[in-house]
Amino acid sequence: MESRITYPEEYKAEFLKSRDLHLSNGRVVSPEEIWDFLTREAPEKYPFAFERQKAFFGMTVSDDFGLPAALKSNYLALTLSDRMEELVKNGGHVAYVQGGQAVDPYTAAGFVGLRPALIGAWARGKIKGKTTTQEELGRKEDKERGYKNISFEACQTAGYEHIQEGDLQVDFVAPYSALRCSDISYGLEAHRHGRRVNEVSLFLGDYPMRRQAEKTWAVDYFAANLRKLVKEMDRISGRNTTEEDLRNTIKMHNKARRISMELADIWWNAPEPPSNGMDRSDLFILGNLEVHGDPVADMDILTEALESVRYRAQNHIRSPYIAENAKRLFVCGSCITLDNYRTEDRGGIVVGTDNAWSHASLLVEEEGDPYYNLAKATLSYPYEQGIKERAAWTIDQVKKSRADGLLFLYNWGCNTQSAVARAICDEVKAKTGLPTIVLENELIGLTPEQQHNRVAAFIEMVG
Ligand code: SF4
Repeated sequence: MESRITYPEEYKAEFLKSRDLHLSNGRVVSPEEIWDFLTREAPEKYPFAFERQKAFFGMTVSDDFGLPAALKSNYLALTLSDRMEELVKNGGHVAYVQGGQAVDPYTAAGFVGLRPALIGAWARGKIKGKTTTQEELGRKEDKERGYKNISFEACQTAGYEHIQEGDLQVDFVAPYSALRCSDISYGLEAHRHGRRVNEVSLFLGDYPMRRQAEKTWAVDYFAANLRKLVKEMDRISGRNTTEEDLRNTIKMHNKARRISMELADIWWNAPEPPSNGMDRSDLFILGNLEVHGDPVADMDILTEALESVRYRAQNHIRSPYIAENAKRLFVCGSCITLDNYRTEDRGGIVVGTDNAWSHASLLVEEEGDPYYNLAKATLSYPYEQGIKERAAWTIDQVKKSRADGLLFLYNWGCNTQSAVARAICDEVKAKTGLPTIVLENELIGLTPEQQHNRVAAFIEMVG
């Protein structure tokens, strides 16, 4: 199979019949414009994104050309950097978000909440014309800067170096101290002592640990944190975000979360995988309305994805290049992914992940105090719970996705995930009988050959 992805002309006519894409700034992008971008402009801007390889910051394109939602998601990923530059030039505001939360409060306050991977995509996307090797080297250089700016002990996924050195116009560093991540404390401390502390505001959502959603005081305490968060964004932007704004935003996000859950249900129960693993992941987490810095566009694509996936499921259409009876893999762990293309070449497919799915698959109560409701939901996210509770939810997801085996991947420097990986795998194995494997990963760059070999051996074994 060709390693370079090009879009065959025979798919164009059908794609042009698909819907326009609406952006938050009011712009409407036609399918013609998207096709033109993906076939002419993007391959020159981002040559590395058109190789069949592990997704660099979600920028690797799909080779499932008959799935319009996937092509549109790729369009948004490959325009993210330019769109964010335009947004800040026009007075828009960006918050740096980390810690597994839904972005409802950021959206309600008129901010774009970007996670570490998206901060990285924005920064890396500013440099055009790179090959895979150049992109790989650029990432290594970024990480070296990160080691100097933050700490050599941290995983360096966060992209704080871009904020510290002023590469990007981020207004606000505003993570939550959730259980999942050991990087946040390094980043916050580095920022507190960093050279841009007077230019970029800092906020920490103080997240009470361990089953706190059952305690009223803890929910009240975290709700007060969320009020402070929104107040600080209002101070920066000069807006006045009301409870009604937040309530309406929660309703919009809930709508997306419901569609995502329906999409997942159809996908998981389809007789054949209706998309490849990379698109599955992209489309499922669209329900968070946060992956492209544009909730309106994400909602558009999500709606279209639901229709396409339902059609394929009803008509037993398997995504191209997926093996017959492909081994279904569930992948746990933060800020990490397998190389989907190589996994599929070896006869596997990733059918589920836990990380961003945790908050996409939990609704927020819509009536009453929106801060209290959001706090309660946030303290209930399964990924942020202790090992037993997180494992119980993982087992449920593994069963729903009809997985044949589970891989737990963690990045070097990811202290929490590395500590819980084996325990969660053991729980899953004990309760389901499925094989599990734990693999450490080096965050920087492409997946090493040794990891591919282990994944390939695991795929053979689960058969
Ligand atoms: S890899 Fe782990 S420590 Fe690093 S940002 Fe992700 S969750 Fe945090």
